[in-house]
Parts: sequence; structure tokens; C-alpha cells
Amino acid sequence: MPKIPLMDYIGRPLLACMFLALLLLQWRFPLRRQHFSMLHRLVRNFVLSIPGFAIVRLAMLPIPLAVAMWARERHIGLLNWLPLPGWAAVIATFLLMDYAYWWWHWANHMIPIFWRFHNVHHTDLDLDVTTAARFHFGEMIFSIGFLSLAVTIFGITPLMLVVFFITFEACTLFHHSNWRLPIKLERILNLIIVTPRMHGIHHSIVQRETNSNWGTIFCWWDKLHRTLRRDVPQDAVIIGVAAYREEQELTLGKLFALPFRQQRAWRLPNGEFPERPVRSADELAE
Ligand SMILES: [Zn+2]
Repeated sequence: MPKIPLMDYIGRPLLACMFLALLLLQWRFPLRRQHFSMLHRLVRNFVLSIPGFAIVRLAMLPIPLAVAMWARERHIGLLNWLPLPGWAAVIATFLLMDYAYWWWHWANHMIPIFWRFHNVHHTDLDLDVTTAARFHFGEMIFSIGFLSLAVTIFGITPLMLVVFFITFEACTLFHHSNWRLPIKLERILNLIIVTPRMHGIHHSIVQRETNSNWGTIFCWWDKLHRTLRRDVPQDAVIIGVAAYREEQELTLGKLFALPFRQQRAWRLPNGEFPERPVRSADELAE
């Protein structure tokens, strides 16, 4: 396996430390009350993520990296055409790639074939930093195509692709964590980035709430598309997917098979459609 030094020697140890730090912080300062065994979920989410981790390192990074090198040599893509100074190219990379990922996340919810796989991530019955690893490997395979396309269109350099990817993963760990930040601090952070309370609403069993807050790094894209929702207090959020609420239906084998089974409509097991009255406050609720 060819080495990707920045990822292998800096990115991975950094992300591992961040994972452990968030694990500690969410245990010490929990945000939402957890309903299921933390240890069970940790093991389940970790085992589920193993094929995904392998795909990320063997294909999901190397293939777009090879595409980025090819695009640079052939002088293809937006940032290869624009003579931007280095700092502006860094900012442009982050904005373009994060916005492209906003659309990719949107597609993962709205396009049925993609939702089958992304559904596995959302069926977690509690939300914490371990959920950030809970992705079906099928979703990783699809995202190789998305990432390669984005890198080609935008002309992202190989170095910036790895820098962006590490930041993207760090943000994913952060906003999935169940860490209760002081609300004032989180409101300030949420002027720029996606925070745990904001992403918690995205994991709600209320479909209108799941279909909001699609951002990964910056919260601005949801503001732009009027899909930003911050009015739901965290103790009112029930985490999960309405039709998949039984723990015994979410074992490892069943989760791997879930995308290939008939998908259930967004209804609670008793047939009800989960709803909540819409409020109007735009400030991040506690
Ligand atoms: Zn999602």
C-alpha cells in the first residue's frame, strides 16, 4: 500500500487523539441523555466501520488523490485555471469542497439508492462520537465517485485534498459528539461551524428535522438553502429513524444487510408520523 505521509503520520494519529478526547469530554459533560449501552454501541459502530476504514485508506483517498495529480498535470479544474495566491486557494478549496459535500449529504437523503446506505448511519439510537464511524461501506464506495468528480471540477491539489479530508473528518467527529459545550460558546461557534446541538437535530426521528442541517464544516450552506434548524432543544430530540426503533433489528448482521432490504416508510412502529410544531426562533436552542 503506497504511503500517504500526511494522512498516515499526522492525520490518523491526530484524529485518533481527537476521538479519545471527545469520548472523554462527552462522558464527563454529556449533552443528551443516552438510552442504550455505550459499550454495545461503541463495539457495534466500531465493527461496522472496519470495512469503511479499509475502503477509505485503500480507495476513497488514493483514487481521488490520483485524480487530483492527473488534473494538476493536465491543468484541469477551476483552481488550476485561476491564478490565486496560496492563501486564497486554501480558502477556496475549503469553501468549494464543503459546499459540494453539503450537496452530497443532501443526495444521500433524497436519492433512494443512496439513502439505503446512509440510513445505516442514522439508525443509531443514541448519537455520540462513535456514530461518526458508523457508515456502511457502500456509502464509502459511492463517495469515491463523488469525491473524484469534485476534485476534477474544482482542480483541488493533492496536498489540499488531504488537508481538507483531515479537517472534514475532525469536524465530523466533533459535531457527532455528545459533548455539552456551554451554550454561549456553542452559539458563537455556530456562527461559523456545525456544532453538536445543530447536528443533533439532523439525527431526529422527526423527518422535517432530519431533512435539515446537512452541513459538515460550515453552517452557512444550510443558511443559504434555508435548511438551517436550531430551534429544537436537545432534550426534546429523539435520535434515530422513525421506522427502525427496535434494538434487536439493528444488530451488526442486520445493519450490513439493511441497504439490500425493502426500506420502510418514515413511520413509527405504531404507524404514527412523528411531528413537532414549528417554532420560529433562529437562535441555537439549549
Ligand atoms: Zn445525514
